[in-house]
Amino acid sequence: MAENKRDYYEVLGVEKGASADEIKKAYRKSAMKYHPDRNPGDKEAEEKFKEIGEAYEVLSDDEKRSRYDQFGFAGVDPSYGGGAGGAGFGGFGGGFGGFDFGDIFGDFFGGGSRTRQSAQNMPRRGENVGARLDLTFEEAAFGVEKEVSARRIENCAECNGTGSSDGKTETCSQCRGSGQVRTVQNIMGMQMQSTTTCPQCSGRGKIIKNPCTTCRGKGKVYRNKKIKVNVPAGINEGQTVRVRGEGCVGSNGGPNGDLMVDIYIKRHPIFEREGVDVYCEVPITFTQAALGAEIEVPTLDGKVKFEIPEGTQTGKMFSLTGRGIPYVNNAKRRGDHRFTVVVETPTKLSKEQKELLRKLDDSLEVKSSPKRNKFFDTIKDFFD
Ligand SMILES: [Zn+2]
Ligand SMILES: [Zn+2]
Repeated sequence: MAENKRDYYEVLGVEKGASADEIKKAYRKSAMKYHPDRNPGDKEAEEKFKEIGEAYEVLSDDEKRSRYDQFGFAGVDPSYGGGAGGAGFGGFGGGFGGFDFGDIFGDFFGGGSRTRQSAQNMPRRGENVGARLDLTFEEAAFGVEKEVSARRIENCAECNGTGSSDGKTETCSQCRGSGQVRTVQNIMGMQMQSTTTCPQCSGRGKIIKNPCTTCRGKGKVYRNKKIKVNVPAGINEGQTVRVRGEGCVGSNGGPNGDLMVDIYIKRHPIFEREGVDVYCEVPITFTQAALGAEIEVPTLDGKVKFEIPEGTQTGKMFSLTGRGIPYVNNAKRRGDHRFTVVVETPTKLSKEQKELLRKLDDSLEVKSSPKRNKFFDTIKDFFD
């Protein structure tokens, strides 16, 4: 065997000066490729896998590696013929000894990985639960307390979350409560030690003698629950309100998840919103526009009096500072209320009224309609 052995560095495909990390990575990569689970019945892959394991056992151990670097195979393999330093060195004749495959394959080969087993008994946070909440424009602006309905996992009330009908649990006899069992497998003459989830208790470490009938021994049940949500002033569509601890119950003493409430805002008949500012239109008569007037503007605070100046054009926007939506993180500060005046042309005029209007029109001077006159001047220049 020794004569046709390939160099260990070559086996793992690394440089002579490779770091421990590089060696480990290279090993994982090839070991996964040639792992017997992935190549059932493939003799060549088996041999490769063995070869890789042997190379890694030496190169991953500082002492063995330096011996190998100095003396070659003779430094590490006693079967090579008792070369220098061979004495007192265990070699791999007896298999992989304390080499724990669970450690290196833990995150690659799902079943029985160490992280997975211990997770069974570790405190785990409950899942978050989502809900939808529809608000009116005003509710979103000023905040509101509402109830939402959410379906979440809770501890079974019948058994207080223990899963046991009589409250009695026994420590699992197979794993003695640890939830894990160590197994030693013999694969191709190599002993591989690994830890797996205890099959008797599924990793819980405890056995329930008389399972609760309500939750079938799980200790948890789904329940629809009405939950109060305090919606802060200034919340906007698309934002989420988090209610801490109102999601699914945690496991093994872990914290509960949260309730995540998605906010939707119903359309308002007059107001529109952009961030913290409110927009609306206010129709005015052409007399109000021409002469100026005190008008009433609808706002979130009710009607607010506002003086529009004479000669106001349609489409002109005015602003009421601080009459908008509160900032969600500072309710004392508010956006603005912006409104656009729309001059309404009078309709359904009587004969008399039309006559009055004509008289008025005749009396109007050029400067009364500066925009119109400028427009026609431009057109004249353009066509002449
Ligand atoms: Zn129960
Ligand atoms: Zn067990």
